[in-house]
Amino acid sequence: MKIAIFGAGQLAMMMIQADKNALHNYIVIDPSSEPPASLYAEHIKSEYNNPDTINDICATCDLVTIDFENVDVSAMQKIEKHVPVHPNSKALEICQDRVKEKGLFKSLKIKTTNNFEIYSMDDIKKNIDPSKSYILKSRRFGYDGKNQYHIKSDTTIETNLISSPCILEELVKFKAEVSLICVKSTDGHTFYYPLIENSHEDGILNMSTYPSNFAHLQESAELIGNKLLEEMKYVGVLVIEFFVNEYDELIANEMAPRVHNSGHWTIEGSNLSQFEAHIAAITGNMKNIKLELKPSFMFNILSKHISNERINKLKSNLEIHFHDYHKKQRPNRKLGHLTCTAENRKSLKIKLQKFRDII
Ligand code: AMP
Repeated sequence: MKIAIFGAGQLAMMMIQADKNALHNYIVIDPSSEPPASLYAEHIKSEYNNPDTINDICATCDLVTIDFENVDVSAMQKIEKHVPVHPNSKALEICQDRVKEKGLFKSLKIKTTNNFEIYSMDDIKKNIDPSKSYILKSRRFGYDGKNQYHIKSDTTIETNLISSPCILEELVKFKAEVSLICVKSTDGHTFYYPLIENSHEDGILNMSTYPSNFAHLQESAELIGNKLLEEMKYVGVLVIEFFVNEYDELIANEMAPRVHNSGHWTIEGSNLSQFEAHIAAITGNMKNIKLELKPSFMFNILSKHISNERINKLKSNLEIHFHDYHKKQRPNRKLGHLTCTAENRKSLKIKLQKFRDII
């Protein structure tokens, strides 16, 4: 099959790398120059909604997927009339807008954060309870902690913050953050990876660990995953991020309609990575899956590259796997990641301590 991927970042790069037997041909569409995936596939340097690009993709490709959820929904709707798009434009539309996403959670009786739609400063004043803390997020184009502000009732908020529609969420007192990777194929086969435990710094994922301390919540998480996959008629990998609150309940925060940073460890830690799973699901090649997983942690390299000397030290001491996204360093930019696997939980813990000493 010829598969077009909208967005040519590291996620597209790892999808293509995962196709080790080169079963498919890939073409990546991205407005930037030399994005990571352009090293591995033909790159069309174009805006996502460029009519010529859309025509070209419809005429030459068998299937379309994404590595970036903020692609133009109307462009995807046009393509869908000619070529399958996974995930579909409806799912993308929901996942692009925090209000629609939270509305879907509510309509499916999935616990989520208390939240309010915000269009003006007055809306904030009207909804805020002085005894509580909140987080204000733009409805759209917010990821990796971008366009998010912690506020208390007495904070003076810059007015330009409300230049676009926002959502005000009550801060959840969580004891952990976990994510669930759901996979559904074109022929209806569905499976879930076990919950992954995630830690963030300044709203950006810092580290993911499998196994989590919340295996007892797996069944509840899968029920939620199943409802969302069904409702959105979803095909491919869908990742749901949850808070675990003080009562040990799952509170849905957001969804990623794509492969996700918290699943990168599956490249070395699983017999089927999330990237292989996504391609198998969208091309209808997913048979009975029996996951074999190794305890693993994944660490994101953010903002600044790690020296070769340190990478080599990590490799020789801990058999760390280094994934380089071939990007120039910039504050808060994801430049690569490191994965470490172990035979059991105990040895993973020891390796994590050693890792912290070296990094
Ligand atoms: P998000 O972009 O919604 O995933 O937010 C990024 C990170 O900010 C989350 O992973 C949390 O660590 C934190 N965060 C976001 N929303 C909330 C909330 N309502 N309560 C507590 N922490 C939050």
